[in-house]
This record gives sequence, structure tokens and C-alpha cells, in this order.
Amino acid sequence: MAQTYHNFVAGKWVPARSGKTFESINPARKKEVLGIFPCSEAADVAQAVQAARREFRRWRLTPAPRRAEIMFRAAEIMVSRKEELAQIMTREMGKVLKESRGDVQEGIDMTYFIAGEGRRLYGETTPSELPDKFAMSIRVPVGVVAAITPWNFPLAIPTWKIVPALVSGNTVVFKPAEDTPLVATMLVQIFEEAGLPGGVLNLVHGFGEEAGAALVAHPGVDLVSFTGSCEVGQQVAVRCAQDFRRVSLEMGGKNAILIMEDADLDLAVEGAVWGACGTTGQRCTAASRLIVHKQVAREFTERFVSAVSRLRLGDGMKAETDVGPVINEAQLKRVDSYTQIARQEGASILCGGEVAVEGECAEGFFYKPTVFAQVTPLMRIAREEIFGPCPALLPVGSFEEALEVANSTSYGLSSAIYTRDVNRAFVAIQELAAGITYVNASTIGAEVHLPFGGICHTGNGHREGGKTVLDIFTEWKAVYVDYSGKLQKAQIDR
Ligand code: NAD
Repeated sequence: MAQTYHNFVAGKWVPARSGKTFESINPARKKEVLGIFPCSEAADVAQAVQAARREFRRWRLTPAPRRAEIMFRAAEIMVSRKEELAQIMTREMGKVLKESRGDVQEGIDMTYFIAGEGRRLYGETTPSELPDKFAMSIRVPVGVVAAITPWNFPLAIPTWKIVPALVSGNTVVFKPAEDTPLVATMLVQIFEEAGLPGGVLNLVHGFGEEAGAALVAHPGVDLVSFTGSCEVGQQVAVRCAQDFRRVSLEMGGKNAILIMEDADLDLAVEGAVWGACGTTGQRCTAASRLIVHKQVAREFTERFVSAVSRLRLGDGMKAETDVGPVINEAQLKRVDSYTQIARQEGASILCGGEVAVEGECAEGFFYKPTVFAQVTPLMRIAREEIFGPCPALLPVGSFEEALEVANSTSYGLSSAIYTRDVNRAFVAIQELAAGITYVNASTIGAEVHLPFGGICHTGNGHREGGKTVLDIFTEWKAVYVDYSGKLQKAQIDR
């Protein structure tokens, strides 16, 4: 019998008021239940928000270096539990074990990096235009943060939000994806163990339409930090706009790799396979479009399809597995529906194109890595995020055309170019409409100390990661101290 887990509210582990629960299952072995979790509703969310509100003043008045010490301790616990966290992650969401270790490492890196802000959180001083007057700007916390996260990076993404929010002096209500509640629970247990006071970080499990929507709509929430699909992100933005609440959105991508005629093809093939099929193509930065110069298209295609066809599908816990399952049955159907769409649109399918049912694949949600060819920019498979191991090959006749095709979707997260021409590389950096550009590397592999996020429908102007993340979780306050002992009027007394 699987273990039952609870929400974490005001420092206590509590069930949902309704008593309703849901199961977290292993997508590689759907009969394996990892745990039973509370199916929270508006009343549970309200309790968590109230707890976060109650603690906000005390936490924001705790000196930032003291807040950060707890984060450093949490990072140390994550280091000591890295393997355990990674194994649970692979069992809960399917990615291969070495990638799960990478996810945990990213959470560790982020926690150490942003905990360092506890002794920075720098503001600015600047001269006043008036004598005997001091001017500065300081960062202040926003208040109660709702952190709503997806399942594909179940540890890293929560740390991108929770740690900067807490170091900056906010309190948090965390609503993790319903597909990965166990990893989320383990993360919150780590913060509890690190000594975080009760109510500062609250965890509410449940489904998006119930717990998620109730959290977004709660008037006690000052800022919603959301990562997930564009469809849900838009609903979140509309709801927050109704009462002028801050919202930061990190959403989907349709990321392109440009493979020019002068590219190192060995490197390009390797990067394209990793970008397209790593994490089973379930990364917001996955390389889902490969824009290839016609001069090398044939050779690249042959080598790429051969490499993709050799990828071994299976349980991510096994060392020999290259590609794990997709997250759940609905996603399996969605990915397969795009193969049907590709056929209807006239694209050719060079490998894969079906649900894998051979051997142990029958026990889970496996889709054969699929390559779509003869794809044109207007096809749906070239424009819509599929979130599976299904890259589209788009042939082009020139560098200029490659840029135009790359910029022809509504998304703008990651991009990459393979070329040996340094001038072209810099033109690509200048012209690619995306928040991230890689040169001679794939579209995936962001590092925590650089800004992360996208333009167009991928985001709403914010950047997680780097020091830019602080602009999400703090408000700027301008402060003037007049020590002249008389009334001085800015702009008037000159
Ligand atoms: P999703 O939008 O279905 O769910 C994300 C989260 O929102 C989950 O916790 C879910 O429960 C919650 N949710 C769902 N409906 C809600 C509602 N009505 N109100 C409030 N919350 C709600 O996305 P997903 O399937 O979990 O994740 C995949 C998507 O996430 C992809 O589009 C991917 O590109 C994107 N993603 C983006 C980034 C990024 O940083 N840009 C990173 C990872 C994933």
C-alpha cells in the first residue's frame, strides 16, 4: 500500500478538508503508485494563504542574511539527498536517472546562488538634486507569493521560485504539478528540516482547475509566479489582471536549431538529438524545429534519423535507457495526435510515429522518437508545442531564410545555431527572436546564474535565474532623506 502524504500548512502536515486524494504513479510502470496525496480545494488553499499572510511581517523583518542561512542549509540537505531525490524523480516523472540528477543539481545550484543574495539584495544610492538630501532605492518583498509549477523539472523549477521569493522576504504558497507531488513534498520537507519557520512556505497539492485556480483567485496572494503551458498561463494572467496582481509567466517554446552549410555536422547531429529527445522532448527549451541548409540537409537528415532510431526507450532507472516515457496517458495521446496531424499536413515521418508497446514499454506511456520531414513553416507541427520526442525538419536555402523561419512562431524561448562562421553567429545572436541563443550548442542547458525566460507568447517580460529573478520577487522603493531641516522642493528650488 502506497504511503499517504499531506499538505504543509502553517508548519503542520495536514490532509485536505474534503478527505479526497489522488495517486502519483510511475509513467514507466503505471501500476506502481508512489504515493497518495490530498486533492485540495479552495478551503485548503485559503488556509495556506492565511498562514502565509500571518507570517509575512515576521519573515520580512528577519534580516536577509539570516533568511539566507536557512536556504544554505536546505542546499546542503539537497546535496546529501541528491541520489534519493533523483531516483524518486525518475520514478515519478520518468526522465532518465542522469537527467534527474541534473535536475536536482540545478536546484542545488540555484539555492546556493540565490542564498548568496541574502548578503547582497543591493539597492542603489544616487545624488539628490537638492543639498543636504540623501537619495536611494531599496528592494522590498512583494508579500504572499503563489508558486505554481509544472512536472518536467519537479525540483529545479520550484527552487527557481521558492528560494528567491524567500530570500527576498516573501512568504510562499506552493502548488506543484499533480504529476509530481512526491518530489515537491520532499523539497518542502527539506526546507522544514533546514529550520524554516512554520507558515513561511506552505504546500498545497491538487489539480490545476481546483487548487491552482483557487490560489490564483485568492485575494491574499500578491504575486503569482507561474511556469507551465501558454493556455493556462493566459488564464492566470487574465485572472490576475482583474485585481491588478503581479504575475510572472514562464511558458512554452517551439525552439529552433539552425544548421548551416558550414556546420560541424558531427556536433550538430549530437546536439540536435540531445535537444530534441533529451527528457523525452519534454523541456520548454527542447529543440523541436531543426532548420537545415539544403546543402547539408540530406547528409544531416540521414545521420540524425539514424541516431534517433538507435535511441533506447525504457525505464529511466536503467543505465542503458536513453529516452524515458512521456508523463501520462493524456500526453501520450496528444503526442500521437500530432503524428496524425503531420500525416494530414503532408509531412513525411522518417522514424517512430507510434506508441511503443514492445516489451516493458507496454507497462508505461512510451512514444517512439519520431522525426517529421518535409515540414513547412505554416504547418501546425512547425508552430505548436508538442512536448514529446518529435522534432520537425525544415529545409531552407539560405541563412536569411533560416532566420526568418526560426522567427516565424508565436514563441520565443530558446534558439541555437551551428556554424563555423563567427560573423553569422553574431548576426544570429542579434536576429533570433528568443530569450536564449546558443552558438554551436543545443537549445537546452541553461545555467542558473544567467537570466532564463522568453519573449512573445513564452513569457510576460520577466526573467527567472540570474540576478534578474529578484525583479520578480521584489518591489523597488525610492527613499529620500532630507537632513536640511527646512522644506526643499524638488524641481522648484533651483
Ligand atoms: P500546465 O499549464 O498544464 O500546468 C502547470 C501548472 O499549472 C500545474 O501545477 C497545474 O496544476 C497548474 N494549473 C493547471 N490549470 C490551472 C489553472 N486553471 N489555474 C491555476 N493553475 C493551473 O503545464 P504542464 O503540462 O505541467 O507543463 C508543461 C508546460 O510547461 C509546457 O508548455 C512547457 O513548455 C512549460 N514549461 C515552461 C518552462 C519555462 O520556464 N518557460 C519550463 C518548464 C515547462
